[in-house]
Amino acid sequence: SELTLGRLAEESWSRFDDFDSVFYDGVWHRSHALAERARRVCGGIVEAGIRPGDRVVVMMANSPEVPLIYQALWAAGAVVTPVVFLVGAEELRHILTDSGAAAIVTSPELVPTVEAALAGGPGVPVFVDTGELERAAEHGPVPRDPADLAALMYTGGTTGKAKGVMLSHHGLWQVAKDSYAMSHQEGMDRAIVPVPLSHAYGLIVTIAGMHATVPQQAVLMRWFDPQVFLTLAAEQRVRYGTVVPAMLQMLLAEPLERHPLPDLAFLTCGAAPLGREVLEEFERRMPGVQILEGYGMTETSAVTTFNPPGRRRVGSVGLPLPGYKVTIRDSSGDEAEPGDPGEICVAGDSLMLGYWGEHAADPEGTTMTGGELRTGDIGCLDDDGYLYVVDRKKDLIIRGGFNVFPRDVEDALNTHPDVLMSGVVGRPDPRVGEEVVAFVQLRPDVTVAAEELIEWARDRVGRVKYPREITFVDSIPVTSVLKLDRKALRSRLG
Ligand code: ATP
Ligand code: MG
Repeated sequence: SELTLGRLAEESWSRFDDFDSVFYDGVWHRSHALAERARRVCGGIVEAGIRPGDRVVVMMANSPEVPLIYQALWAAGAVVTPVVFLVGAEELRHILTDSGAAAIVTSPELVPTVEAALAGGPGVPVFVDTGELERAAEHGPVPRDPADLAALMYTGGTTGKAKGVMLSHHGLWQVAKDSYAMSHQEGMDRAIVPVPLSHAYGLIVTIAGMHATVPQQAVLMRWFDPQVFLTLAAEQRVRYGTVVPAMLQMLLAEPLERHPLPDLAFLTCGAAPLGREVLEEFERRMPGVQILEGYGMTETSAVTTFNPPGRRRVGSVGLPLPGYKVTIRDSSGDEAEPGDPGEICVAGDSLMLGYWGEHAADPEGTTMTGGELRTGDIGCLDDDGYLYVVDRKKDLIIRGGFNVFPRDVEDALNTHPDVLMSGVVGRPDPRVGEEVVAFVQLRPDVTVAAEELIEWARDRVGRVKYPREITFVDSIPVTSVLKLDRKALRSRLG
């Protein structure tokens, strides 16, 4: 019979002898102590009147408290609604209202944000740290169905207002299990985890740890910092890690040659486009480390495709998880030929149950058609079924009738030795419809003329797509999960 995440947590606690489980802030936390606390916190959740099916918002930066509260909430039958700790009061208010949250669990330093979000609205009980929920009596998992809601996850809000995505116990567990099977290698049991556990990616990493067949040790970072990452990874001799492209980009600005990581075998990378040149430079300067790229979205329980070690294809986002089928469709909905770009569509039984609340009606139509999810991303498959992501449909620039995918232009700019990161958007233009303009962040202590970069890009993407204008910025804006924020760049257009 199938597991719920509450049962999975319970099983994982008794699977292994006591071991060092989570390293955080200089201390290893033991697995049995964490499990015991989770059972006591479950007791407090039940006592607080939180019922199976109730949504509970968890807004905390990474710490051992996060997996602990997730497991306790699942054991109590509640629906976990994680929120990245960097969101502001307004966005938090939207999530609290939209989800109809029964409670919120947060950390002391975030109380002012929570209070601001709740001001003038209906009262929602606030618990500060899991300590406030811990009871003397332990509580085991309450019965739930695998098809029941386990998490209400809000999307990144990269293209608009964050949408509530309903994910089931079954879907999350299946994807975690398949991702673990696709990435796991003998002896790979200690990971560095700088990605927020409140994002779909981090949630799956957490559940995969609960499913693991050998004890998994996580070196948890509160928030990514390149120097701390390099020091921690070396000191704790981690074997693999979970990153997003912006983290690799920030690492490239560090003297990597002075920080060899001989124990590190691979880094999984996803959540946003990864430039080929970033991957190649990183691997050149950090010999022995492989970047394994994956692709996914909140709507597919975080992971859709992944490049398994030993079978990866650089430039691609890998092969579909065994439970997913990826089809590329042209604008009339027909299946595209291998190599031809179209909308990436995903079928499989780990997909979301649907959008929630304000987005339940799915006004944008990014929805399930005949059981298939239209992702809003453009991509193509090769003859062997590897997926290549081109860009988001919404970010397409149409210049003088020609399609320009901003990512192509960004990738070209990013290969320039002086460029650290770039962002390309379309500016409304009476003559050509939309003009291609670029924002560029240079590497530390270099200068370069805009004309040189324009020419560099023109040599690579051709005379239609090249950026007509370059604006230098101190830092390219990113979202709270470190994705390039083209929305913010568009608002800067004069
Ligand atoms: P919103 O839907 O609110 O605009 P979002 O789409 O950024 O936000 P997520 O569900 O966290 O929210 O992100 C999924 C999206 O991230 C995918 O649809 C895709 O556009 C992008 N993405 C994820 N992995 C990759 C990858 N490896 N390469 C390119 N893009 C990726
Ligand atoms: Mg999306």
